[in-house]
Amino acid sequence: MKRAAFLDRDNTLIYDPGYIHEPEKVELLEGVPEGLKLLKEKGFLLIVISNQSGIGRGYFKEEDFWAVNGRLQELLKPYDVQIDGFYFCPHKPNEKCNCRKPKTLLVEKAAKDFGVSVSESVVIGDKDSDVEMGFRAGCRLAVKVGAPPFDNFLKAVEFVLSST
Ligand SMILES: [Mg+2]
Ligand SMILES: [Zn+2]
Repeated sequence: MKRAAFLDRDNTLIYDPGYIHEPEKVELLEGVPEGLKLLKEKGFLLIVISNQSGIGRGYFKEEDFWAVNGRLQELLKPYDVQIDGFYFCPHKPNEKCNCRKPKTLLVEKAAKDFGVSVSESVVIGDKDSDVEMGFRAGCRLAVKVGAPPFDNFLKAVEFVLSST
C-alpha cells in the first residue's frame, strides 16, 4: 500500500508571520525542497494538512488559501517536486469540528482519497497539535520541526527516513 508524509504547511514548509494569505509573501523554509524531494524519492506522497482558522475568523477567504498553495507549488517547480494534495480545516477552534488538528478527519480523508496506509505514513509539523494528530491517527512517526534536533525540514526528513 502507498504511504504518505502528512505535512503541516505554515512554519513547516513556508514562513508564516501569522495567518499568511498573500501569495507574494510566500517563502520556502530552509531545507524544504531538498527534504520534499527525498521523501518523494522514497515513495512518500506529499500531502499538506493545514488548520486555516483565518478563514472561519473572516481574516481571508478560501481562495487566498489556494493562492498561497499555488505560489508554494510555483516555488517548488525549479526543484522538480510538487505537493500531491492539500487538505484544510477552515473552522475556528470553538466550532468543535472534527477536522481541526489535532483531530484526524483530514488524515483519514486524504488516506482514503489517495489509497494510503496511515500506519505506514508519517507526520512533519511545527506544533504539538501536528504531532498529536499523527499519534491519534496511528501514523508510524510524527516529528516536530523548528526545535532541536530538527531545526530544519531536511533534518526532520533525514530522521524520518532513517527510522522508517
Ligand atoms: Mg504550522
Ligand atoms: Zn474543521
